[in-house]
Amino acid sequence: MSGLPKGVVGFLLWRPLIALVIAAVVVGVLLLRSHRQEAPVTHRVEHVGLTDKQQVQLGNEEYAKELRQDRAQVVSSGPAYLEVQRVAKRIEAVAARDKPAFAWKVTLLRKNEANAYCLPGGKIVVFTGILPLTRNDSGLATVLGHEVAHATAEHVAERIERQHLTNVAIAIISGGIAFTPSQYAHIVALLGIGGRAASLPFSRAQESEADHIGLIYMARTGYNPRQAVAFWKRMLRASRGKEPPEFASDHPSTAHRIERVEGWLPEAERELGAAPSK
Ligand SMILES: [Zn+2]
Repeated sequence: MSGLPKGVVGFLLWRPLIALVIAAVVVGVLLLRSHRQEAPVTHRVEHVGLTDKQQVQLGNEEYAKELRQDRAQVVSSGPAYLEVQRVAKRIEAVAARDKPAFAWKVTLLRKNEANAYCLPGGKIVVFTGILPLTRNDSGLATVLGHEVAHATAEHVAERIERQHLTNVAIAIISGGIAFTPSQYAHIVALLGIGGRAASLPFSRAQESEADHIGLIYMARTGYNPRQAVAFWKRMLRASRGKEPPEFASDHPSTAHRIERVEGWLPEAERELGAAPSK
């Protein structure tokens, strides 16, 4: 390198550092643009690029699509419908304290699959196939608490932000075309509809956080959090050898999950003590 002018040598030596500085500035700007959000209950700090309003819009788009597909399966009367409305109303009221800008609504679909999910922004879908497992209001509150926690902790928005797809998501929301079909497919997969996106589950940390927040929501609603342990034990027995539904996805083992839920029981029972009696 002795033949090269000093400035060029300097540039070659410093180039990796310059690249690092530029990368740091870009990431810094992206983080500044995203807002700092604190997950309810766990107070974990996360960065999300989508506002509450944008999350409602994104969820509504997906919800409308789901209902177009399954309009004939919507259950709008009968004991199962009434149970789902009754339990969801209570959980929604508690979740709305953390996310007042979300538009909460629950829909029961006649589907022989043990599943339920909550879209970003508060639209909840429950399949009738979960009801034999939830068995009672407390069991259903366990599932709904978990699903709603994914929404209030903005887990989808967090995944979108981590994958730098916020602008793609915004383009979808605004009906723009500034995304490629593969980017669109990616966002839709990130939404994780009804466990169909099993290839892209929530992270293990997010699942665990949803269990924790969900348990506290359940207690704040006035349901006995110990019933959550009973429900997970039923799940453990029922799901042996089968593909786990969304709320059971990506866990090292249901047995380990039950242990952790038991660890949060004292905190949940304090909340139950403060909740209106049921
Ligand atoms: Zn989950």
